[in-house]
Amino acid sequence: MQPIALTERGRTDPSQAALPVPFFSQAVSFERIWPEVERHLTEVTGRGKYSHGHKVAEFERALAGYTGARHAVAVNSGTDALVLLLRAAGLNPGDEVVVPAFSFVASASSVVLAGGRPVFADIDPVGHGLDPASVAAAITPRTRFVMPVHLFCQMADMDALSAIATDNGLTVVEDSAEAIGMRWNGRHAGLLGAGGVLSFFPSKTLGALGDAGAVLTDDDRIAETVAALRHHGRFGATLGDFRKISTQTSMPGQNSKMDDIQAAVLLTKLGRLGADIARREELAEAYTERLTGAPGILRLPTVVPRDAATNPVYYVYLIEVEHRDRLAEFLARRGIGTETYYPVPLHRQPCFAEFGLLEGAFPHAEAACRHALALPLYPDLTMEQVDYVCATIRAFAEEEAA
Ligand SMILES: *Cc1c(COP(=O)(O)O)cnc(C)c1O
Repeated sequence: MQPIALTERGRTDPSQAALPVPFFSQAVSFERIWPEVERHLTEVTGRGKYSHGHKVAEFERALAGYTGARHAVAVNSGTDALVLLLRAAGLNPGDEVVVPAFSFVASASSVVLAGGRPVFADIDPVGHGLDPASVAAAITPRTRFVMPVHLFCQMADMDALSAIATDNGLTVVEDSAEAIGMRWNGRHAGLLGAGGVLSFFPSKTLGALGDAGAVLTDDDRIAETVAALRHHGRFGATLGDFRKISTQTSMPGQNSKMDDIQAAVLLTKLGRLGADIARREELAEAYTERLTGAPGILRLPTVVPRDAATNPVYYVYLIEVEHRDRLAEFLARRGIGTETYYPVPLHRQPCFAEFGLLEGAFPHAEAACRHALALPLYPDLTMEQVDYVCATIRAFAEEEAA
């Protein structure tokens, strides 16, 4: 088997005037891990089961080991993981789920796809997690779930949110799609309530070579139901033993299975996740050092002090700046890729227009959407590239001042 063609992006000579910095690249690290991926793939082709096969079961066991989850159920994306988790956790048609107005659209669209109704709440402007006071204000007699989303580098305030859930009889389901490696008092993200999800979209901290995701839960019944729902609603598909899959469909399910080629990549990368997370932290600290005090920057990533023991994991390095779109454009013209996480508050997305929420409903979410810009951050990034990005951001500020 030949290694895939690798590009030269991400290791360009830093002395060049225009140093290209893609928003995301894994070409260099993929070249390094290829031999191990290939060994896994040789087993896959040898066994001849390419979807939802033994490599997927092996990855599920490794992921459960890493996170400490009683069950890690592999699926095809973080989005389907959310839909299946909500269904398995007992969402009934019309049930309300409190979700943040500032998140990736899947946090709320998954609720609609599972038959529920998203009800929005504002965020804490510093840590970007659900604001507990705003959640409390959003609760109605129809509210059944609250969905904290852990964005960028840290978890939402799980002590406060769990207390509100307990007081109001709500189930906590975590959108921990970005939160692999994050822990709250030793418990991995996704395991603070009924369950949570992980996304393995390529740019995520643990990224596949395409789409993939997982549900994490300590609840046997939820794990078994997600495992059935990902496989057309056929029970018995649970956790590794595919020979026991029922031919009876007990509930209408989906085809949300993980491919073994993704499991092979993920299994390999999971073994290096600690080193990848440490590299991300090193790069994030370098950004912070170089950007502190730069004009035009409203906020650098700020880890909120908590009573609980928490650990930041830098999935995204998100800055908030005065003239976001102009800066993004300035960087793009100099070969630097950025992303806008997230451009539109969820209550202003056309697909949720029926809820009739106006501009001004969630000021912190709206401000974040106006000012937030994600800079390139991935293990392949070099310090020279970080220097170049930061120098270019400062050059922008000078040009604006002139
Ligand atoms: C990435 C992401 C998702 C969706 O995951 P996919 O694997 O892309 O479907 C959901 N929620 C959040 C917060 C995410 O960052």
